[in-house]
Amino acid sequence: MNSVVGSLYVVATPIGNLDDISARALKVLRDVSLIAAEDTRHSLRLMQHFGITTPLGACHEHNERDEGSRFIQRLLAGEDVALISDAGTPLISDPGYHLVRQARAAGVRVIPVPGACALIAALSAAGLPSDRFIFEGFLPAKAVGRRSRLELLKEEPRTLIFYEAPHRILECLQDLELVFGPDRPALLARELTKTFETLKGLPLSELRAFVEGDSNQQRGECVVLVAGWTAPETEEAVSSEAMRILDLLLKEMPLKRAAALAAEITGERKNVLYQVALEKQKVD
Ligand code: SAM
Repeated sequence: MNSVVGSLYVVATPIGNLDDISARALKVLRDVSLIAAEDTRHSLRLMQHFGITTPLGACHEHNERDEGSRFIQRLLAGEDVALISDAGTPLISDPGYHLVRQARAAGVRVIPVPGACALIAALSAAGLPSDRFIFEGFLPAKAVGRRSRLELLKEEPRTLIFYEAPHRILECLQDLELVFGPDRPALLARELTKTFETLKGLPLSELRAFVEGDSNQQRGECVVLVAGWTAPETEEAVSSEAMRILDLLLKEMPLKRAAALAAEITGERKNVLYQVALEKQKVD
């Protein structure tokens, strides 16, 4: 692996199940001169499990900015370094950003070695739209901050993904329900890849009740996913002129025919007018 300047490998480690480490990750961790780890004691156990004896150096959020230069010097001297965090992919709600930035600025090649990441694992099994999504990391710990952040996300159309600490999961779900409404589809992914792995998909009010009613659901690591906002296809989405015509036609003919004819006259979508007509019928 030696070249004039060393490479910085950003290596994903498991988020629970130790089998979720790639053969490439193990090879890199064995071959580099030094592993920059978020918590050296924690990572030592992982290294011992795989019989890896590469020296570990601390690279956590408190020393990353200042100590980064120590790793950069070794990289510039031609040594390869691997960056790992306690679990999953470094830099994803984990330290590493400053080191990667400094390395790139110093002309060091930065090589990702991909693997487990809780948000991607959760999204891959959630059955919520995954073509576009937004990762919000951890919400503010205090209710005021959390609610105002959620207010900003209320009409976000992409699937939303949050990390949350177990002792705040219930408050988080309560605030999600409060701001996004009780019916928004959501999913709680808990203890992924571990013994008590649970993926529960329900509308927000039911998910909140499920977690409230079972203290076991308030333990362990969790990811919360919420379906993005969709514009309500109801009366507000239909022009007042279309509503007037629909009302007139409904007095004269069956619902389906009235919706179709109103759509033809106004250019509004037939299925939207049909839904509106159904709603009206329920109310009348
Ligand atoms: N870097 C990690 C990654 O790639 O997912 C995330 C680190 S962040 C400090 C820790 C948070 O990730 C946890 O509080 C939880 O929200 C989520 N997480 C990590 N492991 C998880 C697991 N096995 N199941 C569910 N969520 C997990």
